[in-house]
Amino acid sequence: MTNIDDLRERVAQACRVLGTLDLTKAATGHVSARLPGTDRVFVRARGQDELGVRYTTAAEVIEVDLDGRAIGNPPGLVAPSEVFIHTSLYRARPEVNGVVHVHPSKVILFTICKKPLLPLFGAYDPSAAKLALDGIPTYERSITITTPELGADLVRAIGSKRVCLMRGHGITTAHQSVEEAALDAIALHELATINYEAALLGDPEPISEEDQVVFRSGRESRQYSAAGDGRPGGRAKAVWRYYTALTAS
Ligand SMILES: [Zn+2]
Repeated sequence: MTNIDDLRERVAQACRVLGTLDLTKAATGHVSARLPGTDRVFVRARGQDELGVRYTTAAEVIEVDLDGRAIGNPPGLVAPSEVFIHTSLYRARPEVNGVVHVHPSKVILFTICKKPLLPLFGAYDPSAAKLALDGIPTYERSITITTPELGADLVRAIGSKRVCLMRGHGITTAHQSVEEAALDAIALHELATINYEAALLGDPEPISEEDQVVFRSGRESRQYSAAGDGRPGGRAKAVWRYYTALTAS
């Protein structure tokens, strides 16, 4: 398997993980990776024969340029209508090699009810805690991102962050590898799940100021830990292995 085939499979694998964890359902959502050092991108395609994000195969991952145009007319497959989420991020942020856009219902509830995602835990999941502590931007429009202009609009809302909520729509994450972008989506979903369940149970309180300082300044084990080659680094590699194994059964 060449590196290129490998990257196609890694995009498909990230789709299967996110589908298996119910971060999105049916055909909604897409995952992409930049071909290292190029202006080309592998993205999950849409097609009449597709089974949905959870069952994505490498054959359903197509190559597009930064204008969102499919390369080589893959039979029966087209770029997703929201391909501009991906291309706009790759265009604006050279350090980004992986992008995830999914529709996790638990997270969306917080944008609908305009409730913040609070830092309710620390050591339970330090990566998710840090997301909350760093602040999570929200893209206020609820429309489908079907043009380069809307893509640029979303990129402005994300700024230099790795994750973004999209009101009444979904989430977008961007990272140095497709696996880490998927891990951030999983962490965001975990943060929303705990916030949601804590609100049902009683009166959730953020962790203490003293502990917030610890997690805010804590070493980010997953952030930009690899050599910029679009592969996950450090601990992310091991965590990803676990999620990959979940999709094997
Ligand atoms: Zn969407």
